[in-house]
Amino acid sequence: MIKNYFTPNTIEEAVSLKETYGDRAKYLSGGTELNLRINKEKYETFIDLRNVNSREIKVLESGSMEIGAGVTFQDLVSNENVPYQLKRAAQYMDSRNVRNIATIGGNIGSGRTMGDLLPTLLVLEAKVKIGESEKLITVEDYIHGRCDGLIEKIIINGSDLEKSYGSRAHMRTSNDISIIGAAVTFEERDGKLHRVKIALGGVDKKVIRLREVEGSLEGKTPTKEEIVNLIKENINPLGDVRGSKEFKTHMAAELVAESFGIN
Ligand SMILES: Cc1cc2nc3c(=O)[nH]c(=O)nc-3n(C[C@H](O)[C@H](O)[C@H](O)COP(=O)(O)OP(=O)(O)OC[C@H]3O[C@@H](n4cnc5c(N)ncnc54)[C@H](O)[C@@H]3O)c2cc1C
Repeated sequence: MIKNYFTPNTIEEAVSLKETYGDRAKYLSGGTELNLRINKEKYETFIDLRNVNSREIKVLESGSMEIGAGVTFQDLVSNENVPYQLKRAAQYMDSRNVRNIATIGGNIGSGRTMGDLLPTLLVLEAKVKIGESEKLITVEDYIHGRCDGLIEKIIINGSDLEKSYGSRAHMRTSNDISIIGAAVTFEERDGKLHRVKIALGGVDKKVIRLREVEGSLEGKTPTKEEIVNLIKENINPLGDVRGSKEFKTHMAAELVAESFGIN
């Protein structure tokens, strides 16, 4: 049961409230995830970030992007400054009603394996600026639990946005949350792949990078079969109500190959 509800006006105030109330306090942005779990988990304090979360989307002179944690999925879809990679990832969330409220900060903060923005943020090597510090940490480290600080903004380097990009997601119906999400970035020179990054959601507890596969593809011109086999050898999803282990393995391998544009 929620016993305390705060609406701080500054990041410092929000961070200090979190320090005071500890693990039973949760930052609240759109609430689309938290309100689902409110009866299952033992939160006592909500720290509502409505006066703190930035919805600013900035393109810096270097070509890098800064995206406030309070930017919604719909902002990503509609704002002309948002790169196509993030627009595409945001559109995997089909419901406009949820897109209007759900934030990028909340997608990273919940860190769920089916978070639709996460595979794309991982292959773009996006970083988060944490309210408590001047240091940047990668979205990958954040979702793998190496930090649970207040997400202030997300930063993506211009050079990562210039790479070739592809992504795919599979859901039961367009209104459902993804079962498998895949994203890749790469450079292509002389018909060969370079600087490959691959991220998959739905095949592990968190969204993961497939670094061994990335290394194996460096300097290669792989066939679809080679990509599919490499992916299958390097993932071990759990079967559950959303799909058997075999189904998820098959879908993940196909979606990665398709993300490279190889059908
Ligand atoms: C009907 C429905 C459909 C959905 N469909 C999809 C879908 O298609 N794809 C998808 O990816 N998700 C989906 N979701 C899940 C959810 O909408 C997303 O994960 C969303 O991005 C959460 O954002 P939020 O702002 O609502 O987060 P909240 O619910 O406010 O918070 C989620 C988590 O992030 C933490 N958090 C929030 N903001 C911050 C911050 N600034 N700093 C640190 N931690 C923070 C919170 O403490 C909490 O742990 C769906 C949810 C619902 C209810």
